[in-house]
Amino acid sequence: MKLHWQILIALLLAIVAGVLAFDPSKTSLAYRIFDFIGLAFLNALKMLIVPLIMSSIICGIANIGEQGGVGRLGVKTVGYYMTTSLLSILIGLLFVNILSPGIIDGEPARERIGLSAETDEITEKIGGRGAGDIAGIFLRMLPPNIVMAAAEGQMLGLIFFGLLFGFLMTRIEGSKREVLTLFWNGVLDVMMAMTNLIMKFAPIGVFGLVAKVVSSTGIGVFVPLAYFFFTVLGALAAHFFIVLPGLLWFMGGISPVRHYRIMLPAILTAFSTSSSAATLPITMDCVEHQAGVSNRTTSFVLPLGATVNMDGTALYECIAAMFIAQAYGLNLGLVEQFTVVLTALLTSIGVAGIPAASLVAISIILSAVGLPLEGIGLILAVDRVLDMCRTVVNVFSDSCGAVIIARSEGEKGVLAG
Ligand code: ASP
Repeated sequence: MKLHWQILIALLLAIVAGVLAFDPSKTSLAYRIFDFIGLAFLNALKMLIVPLIMSSIICGIANIGEQGGVGRLGVKTVGYYMTTSLLSILIGLLFVNILSPGIIDGEPARERIGLSAETDEITEKIGGRGAGDIAGIFLRMLPPNIVMAAAEGQMLGLIFFGLLFGFLMTRIEGSKREVLTLFWNGVLDVMMAMTNLIMKFAPIGVFGLVAKVVSSTGIGVFVPLAYFFFTVLGALAAHFFIVLPGLLWFMGGISPVRHYRIMLPAILTAFSTSSSAATLPITMDCVEHQAGVSNRTTSFVLPLGATVNMDGTALYECIAAMFIAQAYGLNLGLVEQFTVVLTALLTSIGVAGIPAASLVAISIILSAVGLPLEGIGLILAVDRVLDMCRTVVNVFSDSCGAVIIARSEGEKGVLAG
């Protein structure tokens, strides 16, 4: 049976198991078993990240360094990422303005929803998720200690170091260059093989991760927030099913249906892990081995995308901030809405590809437009499930970028046959 079918079945079984073993106190044996299985899979994925990104970027850039065109690829990648993030924010803005989920029966919804969290809980949730200001982003590109950056999962620093290393590797003397090139290519091959091996366990891992969320969340939390929940879901769906396939079709001349099918394992993993960073090895595998994008493009576009391109996150930040304003009975004017758009764009670049990373960005937006931080409490109950959905959009947008850019670079084998 194909892997994506196995994962899908695991997902359905997980929902059933989660409902049967419902336990909001998170103490039951079933919860602990789900947690153990999920964590084991997540750890295995995370274990791949540092060596996979390093070897992949170094080999990819060394390749480009020899053929030329680093600058061109960089401009295309940044251009694509900025465009899709902006489009997704505008979609979010449109949905939240038209549907006004923060207003129920003409009244601000705050009272009805009731704050579901204490300030302490919010501060704890958003702590240590990485700040989103521009200076901070640049500083993180230059980590003072590369080993610490690797240990802390600071991807931006690793990417920048890998880019420099790969580029300069092509500039050194003959035999040393050959040895290094062989070495890094060998590491990359081993890491790819390891990714393939771990992917075989994806159905079990997905089962654990999803059953854990379902068993501890339950269905009840969605009722008061249903309107907000479906506004976000609708906007994410519009981006996922209309905008991104449109770009694939018009900019890349690529059949979106095939691309969805090929990316299914990555999509389902993103959904279950809520982390673009943890999904990265699988995204790379799908894009390079199934869609046929060269290592040169994959290794440049995808690690960068998993770190800086977060369409789903940007869209969510925008809707969440606007929803909180509406729920508090505040009407945000054009200038404030523009501030929301700009801050959402910048912070979506800065937040890490890990679960609940958006919350820190939302807190930045809230302070930028002068809203109380406690507002985040309104959305905490449904954040996890929406996190799963926005991570899917984040990962899928990166993969679309990779195939569109590969096509524009004249790669023939992309989604061919
Ligand atoms: N979980 C998201 C990701 O990893 C980030 C976020 O929006 O919280 O892509």
